[in-house]
Amino acid sequence: MTSYLRPRTLEEATVARAAYPDWMVLAGGTDLMVNANHKPTPPGILDLWRLGELGFIRVEGDAIVIGAGTTWHEVERHAAIREKLRPLALAAREIGALQIQARGTLGGNVGTSSPVGDSLPVLLALDAQIEVASVRGRRTIPYHAYCTGYRKTQLASDELIVSATIPLPSAATRTTWRKVGTRRAQSISKVMGAAAITLDGGTVVSARIALGAVADRPMRITAVEDAVRGLPLAQAADAARTALHTAITPIDDVRSTADYRRGVAENLVARFFTS
Ligand SMILES: Cc1cc2nc3c(=O)[nH]c(=O)nc-3n(C[C@H](O)[C@H](O)[C@H](O)COP(=O)(O)OP(=O)(O)OC[C@H]3O[C@@H](n4cnc5c(N)ncnc54)[C@H](O)[C@@H]3O)c2cc1C
Repeated sequence: MTSYLRPRTLEEATVARAAYPDWMVLAGGTDLMVNANHKPTPPGILDLWRLGELGFIRVEGDAIVIGAGTTWHEVERHAAIREKLRPLALAAREIGALQIQARGTLGGNVGTSSPVGDSLPVLLALDAQIEVASVRGRRTIPYHAYCTGYRKTQLASDELIVSATIPLPSAATRTTWRKVGTRRAQSISKVMGAAAITLDGGTVVSARIALGAVADRPMRITAVEDAVRGLPLAQAADAARTALHTAITPIDDVRSTADYRRGVAENLVARFFTS
């Protein structure tokens, strides 16, 4: 029989996580339940759904801190996120459809760490920090170092994800997020990505470009970032497209061919600079 624990505090949760590292950590369950019938039954379930200390959105100085248990619906509806972290609000609106957005959480997207996790390029492009907790204490992991391979992360077996801290882009920085899927809703991304482009007049001072679904993990595309630095916006789109062509080696799979993914990714990155 599977055991079940629903902690009332984060401290209780970390104690349970340390005591039962082989239990399933459950948030909204929208990733976990899809495969539940095809995987061995876990010895226990540690249910974090609606754990108060993980469900919050706070503006703190020049950043917004989002608790791991915050749902995509809550992210999408939050006024400060809509106004100041537009790429995250755009990603939240396209994760699954309303039912998935009502249950799926930021912590779940980060926890699964799929290369097609729609929020993950946003965390990369906006230089987010992930806070994690265990009975040993708390630590902060820069998101660019968090994901170490295909669905592999730095999270230790006794740790839980607490929050993501996302710095607010400066007034000179344009940010966006785009997704290409087979349809408008309930669509797993063929390619998606986020951009933070800092301009001086019409010239690109710097750019942070991150894509998902083009490698085993979400990735920053530094070749594009280098290629556009110092260029007038009008020339940046073509430079970005050219640089991207050799910067990624997408895979063939049931959803798309590598050639299609590369072409779509080139268009997507070029559009970061044109619209
Ligand atoms: C029909 C459908 C459509 C979907 N469409 C999209 C889509 O368009 N884009 C997209 O990105 N995803 C999509 N998903 C996947 C999923 O909804 C998201 O990844 C969601 O954010 C997962 O959140 P959750 O709370 O449901 O995670 P869960 O399923 O509860 O957990 C996912 C993983 O994260 C771990 N985890 C969760 N919280 C924590 C924590 N605090 N600390 C440590 N580990 C934790 C769990 O142990 C598990 O390994 C879809 C899923 C379905 C079923």
